[in-house]
This record gives sequence, C-alpha cells and structure tokens, in this order.
Amino acid sequence: MSEIKIQKWSPIQGGYQKRCPICSTVFWGRLNKRYCCAACKTKENNDRARSRRESERKTTGPLMGNVRLFASMLEGTDGSVTVKLDELENTRGFDPTAPRSSFKERVTGKLWYRYGDYALHVNENTKVVIIKRLEQ
Ligand SMILES: [Zn+2]
Repeated sequence: MSEIKIQKWSPIQGGYQKRCPICSTVFWGRLNKRYCCAACKTKENNDRARSRRESERKTTGPLMGNVRLFASMLEGTDGSVTVKLDELENTRGFDPTAPRSSFKERVTGKLWYRYGDYALHVNENTKVVIIKRLEQ
C-alpha cells in the first residue's frame, strides 16, 4: 500500500499529505496517520476482523463437523465404536482434512488422532477405525 502514500510535508498544513487507503481521499496528517477519518479506520478494522473470522471458520468448521459426527456415533455406547474406514469417509461425512493432533498409546504404541474430545485409530491392515471418547 506504500504506492498510494503521498508523504509530502507542508509547514502550512502542519503535516503530511496522505491518501486514505479506504476511500482514496487526500488529507493532511501526522506521518503515521493512515486513514482520513474514524469511519475509514473502523471499516479497515472490521474488514480485517471479518477476514480473520472467515479463515478461522475454514479450519474450525471441518473439525467441529467431525466432532459432531463422532458425538452422534457414540451416543448410547459405552464410549467407543468401530466402523470401516471406507464407510466413515464415504457415507458418514467424516472430513479427513480437518485439523487434528496425534498421540501414541503408551503401552500398545497405537497411533490416535485427536478431534476435540474424541480420538480415532485406524487399523492399517483391516481398515477398521476405532473412535472413542477421551476421558475428561
Ligand atoms: Zn477514508
């Protein structure tokens, strides 16, 4: 955005000539003043916050989708369920791109992927998935 700054100092105006990056109004102000008015500054802040929320939603959306899926699959169970990987991915709506963390079970060395309060383990030989609710 530096190409739209004018940065000409005037002793008469008592500041620098600038161009507002939001509305393109030319105004005079301190060297570090970016916007012509409070409304333009607010608009820029709101636009940034909106774009930050949208980018957060891109990652939390798929994660929360998987968490809701696991919650419904585990409803009425003792806290774990097994399902074929193929079924989980193709008919249940599991999103494998959702953000997750992983941990290894201390005794067995089993690799688990964590989604919120749930964890998932894939048996690579049988392609059967165990989904369990983690202890709170
Ligand atoms: Zn402006």
